[in-house]
Amino acid sequence: GPCTIENLDQLRDIASHVKDSGAVLLRGGAYKPMTFPYRSKTAFELGEEGLAFMRRVRDETGLPLVTEVVDVRLVDQVAETADMIQVGARNMQNFPLLEELGRCGKPVLLKRHFGCGIRDWLGAAEYLYHHGNDQVVLCERGISAAHTHEPTARFIVDIQVIPAVRSYSHLPIVIDPSHATFNRKFVPSISRAAIAAGADGLILEVHPTPEKAAVDPLQALSYEVFDGLMGDLRGIARVVGKTL
Ligand code: PEP
Ligand code: MN
Repeated sequence: GPCTIENLDQLRDIASHVKDSGAVLLRGGAYKPMTFPYRSKTAFELGEEGLAFMRRVRDETGLPLVTEVVDVRLVDQVAETADMIQVGARNMQNFPLLEELGRCGKPVLLKRHFGCGIRDWLGAAEYLYHHGNDQVVLCERGISAAHTHEPTARFIVDIQVIPAVRSYSHLPIVIDPSHATFNRKFVPSISRAAIAAGADGLILEVHPTPEKAAVDPLQALSYEVFDGLMGDLRGIARVVGKTL
């Protein structure tokens, strides 16, 4: 889905498109953890209104919803709408938030902090378990590493973490090539690599006019690229004994 939910028509359009191409969950941000504090006409979050748009689009398409909660005070509000709640990278060790999510009754998508190893990540997952929630999916979204492929590159995908996590944990692990690469030109190849390495799923940012996306315009995929990628992934999944 989109990074931030921009309006009802946008969300509806993306949802119906990605569903037709084989997506099984709709992810969109109503609350966003943004790197810089400036909110504007071009970088915004819709909050409760965004959640209402999500409910409407779920009713229309049947796609379950994944959305992020950034604030412990909003867990109940977000849990009322979401079918799965995302914990963003920056909140991976926000322990009061994890405790509240332990009690929320909804599955949690736990992103890995870009500076943490497996021990801290699985420790965070155990907070959810310890407080009553065993519906946890891990999400690798890139770690900080100095590299110079692009001036805007901030993260690099840790593909090796997929088999490494498997040796410690039964939890499903999905990859987020969009935030990890921060650049759409790297997203298809890294998506293919992730599925080849055994990832259980991907989160991909998709937008009808990617360069005009309100948030994260550098990384969103066009419909055309998304569709082509889904075709590739179907073939790769088959090779590793999975289905899309
Ligand atoms: C996101 O998924 O929208 C996001 C901001 O990702 P991360 O927390 O991984 O930076
Ligand atoms: Mn984003």
